[in-house]
Amino acid sequence: MNFLSLFARNLRRGPYTEAFPFGPAKTPEHLRARITFDPKQCEGCRLCEKVCPAGAIRFTRTPGGMTFDCWHATCVFCGTCEFYCPTKAVKQSNDWHLAHAQGEKYAQVEHGLIPNQICVECGAKALDTAPAVSHIKPPLSAEEVTELRARCPKCRNKYLRSRKTS
Ligand code: SF4
Ligand code: SF4
Repeated sequence: MNFLSLFARNLRRGPYTEAFPFGPAKTPEHLRARITFDPKQCEGCRLCEKVCPAGAIRFTRTPGGMTFDCWHATCVFCGTCEFYCPTKAVKQSNDWHLAHAQGEKYAQVEHGLIPNQICVECGAKALDTAPAVSHIKPPLSAEEVTELRARCPKCRNKYLRSRKTS
C-alpha cells in the first residue's frame, strides 16, 4: 500500500487513539491497577504486607486499632497481595487514574482501619478482624461467624473448642 492510499484509508477510518483526557478511555476489565482494601473482610494476618515485593503495604498498630496503608506510587501492580489474601480483603481494581501533582504524591494512599472492639466474653480490647474460618470443619453458620467475630482471639479459640465438643 503506497502512502497516498494509506493516507486516504486513515482519513476514512478516523483516529485510532483515545481522546483521553478530553474524552473517555476504554479500560480492559482485567487491567491490573489500583489496590483496594476492605477492613471488614480482613483477618489481620498481614500476609499481604509480607509478600508485597515493593514494600507498598504497611499495617500499623494505633490506639484506635490497626491501620492499613498501600502507597499507589510504590505499588508495581503485580497482584501478589490479592493472590495470597485469604479473604480477598485486598483486591486489585482496574482503576488506573493515578495521575497527580508532585505535591500530592504522599496522598496517593489506600487507607483503612481495622478498629478495636471489646470482647463480648471477657471484656478485653481486641481488633475487630474477620475470623479465619475457611479451614474450619464443619463450616460455621453466619450466626456462628458473628458470634466468633465479637470475641478476642483467646475467646475465639475457646468458642471453637466448645463447638467441637458440643
Ligand atoms: S488484607 Fe488479606 S492478606 Fe492482608 S492482612 Fe487482611 S486478610 Fe491478611
Ligand atoms: S499489587 Fe504487588 S506491589 Fe502492589 S501492593 Fe500488591 S503485592 Fe504490593
